Amino acid sequence: MLTMADGGRVVVAGAGLAGLRTVTELRERGFTGQITLIGAETWPPYDRPPLSKKVLTDEEVDPSLKADFAALDVDFRPAEAATGMDAGTLATGRGKYPYDRLVLATGARPVALPGPGRQRFLRDYDDALALRALLKPGLRLTIVGAGWIGAELATAAAARGGRVTVLEAGPAPLTSAVGAPVGAQTSRWYAAAGVRLRTGTSVDSVQPGGLALTGGGWIDADEIITAVGVRPATGWLEGSGLCLENGVAVDSGLRASVPGVYAVGDCAAFESRRFGRRLRFEHWDVALHAPEVVAANVLGGDEVYDPVPYFWSEQFGRMVQYAGYHGDAEQLVWRGDPAEPSWAACWLAVDRLVAVLTVDRPRDLLQGRRLIASASPVDVGRLADPAVPVKDAVLSERCRLHAPGQRPRNPRLTLVFGECPDVGHWIRGTDRPQNRRSRR
Ligand code: FAD
Repeated sequence: MLTMADGGRVVVAGAGLAGLRTVTELRERGFTGQITLIGAETWPPYDRPPLSKKVLTDEEVDPSLKADFAALDVDFRPAEAATGMDAGTLATGRGKYPYDRLVLATGARPVALPGPGRQRFLRDYDDALALRALLKPGLRLTIVGAGWIGAELATAAAARGGRVTVLEAGPAPLTSAVGAPVGAQTSRWYAAAGVRLRTGTSVDSVQPGGLALTGGGWIDADEIITAVGVRPATGWLEGSGLCLENGVAVDSGLRASVPGVYAVGDCAAFESRRFGRRLRFEHWDVALHAPEVVAANVLGGDEVYDPVPYFWSEQFGRMVQYAGYHGDAEQLVWRGDPAEPSWAACWLAVDRLVAVLTVDRPRDLLQGRRLIASASPVDVGRLADPAVPVKDAVLSERCRLHAPGQRPRNPRLTLVFGECPDVGHWIRGTDRPQNRRSRR
């Protein structure tokens, strides 16, 4: 067990948000040993969310995270990529770094389309600077992929006067992120911004001057940006003996399969106790907070990372926020009319809220995230009513929704039926009709 008194050597591979937050947390927790931070990019750590937003349109915006490595006493090695590891040593193109603990925070890389034509991406600061120089009035730009990044790119390119076409293989924008029924509600935003959206359109290859479509068809384009998703940047770990499953497979304490090795951020697939499976998120909030757990455990702790995941996107003048995980949801509940400026979509599994997406309803998001964390049963009618605060959709203890004939989860409860004064319809109660005042 590494203790602060031992000193010891911690090496962190990847100098993005998760890598920087890891070294900062280690120092804040009193670690006095040696820390080396290895980053493939030439830039010191910076924030990625602004790259697809303000950085594309505003030259004044600086995404730097303003790390002070001298004050942190961290040996920062920019422009140096890790190339392999074994138990006790990390190798780069320049040398070998012995470690007592190794933290992998190498993030993710964009997926490329086949074909010899030029395609651009938006993952790092250099990409964003190149795109900002490119986005000019009249530019015929085709963006492949109507996911989060594609939508934000289309927003910026349209604002700069580009003639923007977005191609999406799925039936609606955001299909892979939130499903077609919810994603389809964002289609009208593209049209209103003057962006041509073509769904159900799959690209076969990128060619000089345009795109060849699957099954025939061609689209002319001056410039092509591919935004069809990312993969964990873990290719360099193949053959290292680490278990890799959609990223570095880690337990709920973010420990990898090799003792002394941890992973965090976009490259880490962690055991989520809350959702009962291994999950990997590409969320800024994960890169911000998971390093707290890694740092604690590197220093000998036994903390668990089990968040209600959170993500946001700014597209076409709207703030879209998502919390939770809807993989096991059985029911989708609309909160407000998606044709209106603000609304929300709620996913439920049985009677629990498991995920929420909000459009310009930040309070719903906040309360929804807390509700997901609490795993309290909700009243669907109240949840669907945008005039009722999300927190007030919780069924009080004596007002648990019950379908007649359903067996109670708690066998000590005997069913009685009556009208709940809080929610106004049939409830599951205790065997005493005049049961205790609800605890709310
Ligand atoms: P990264 O930020 O990818 O950092 C990993 C670093 O490791 C990189 O610098 C990489 O070059 C380096 N690296 C890779 N391989 C090696 C190697 N072999 N050796 C050394 N270094 C290596 N999330 C949101 O919640 N909301 C948003 O609005 C949002 N907008 C985004 C916009 C863009 C354009 C992008 C790209 C992402 C956005 N995200 C957003 C996602 C969020 O930024 C990421 O989840 C977060 O940056 C992940 O941080 P990370 O440190 O794990 O990985």
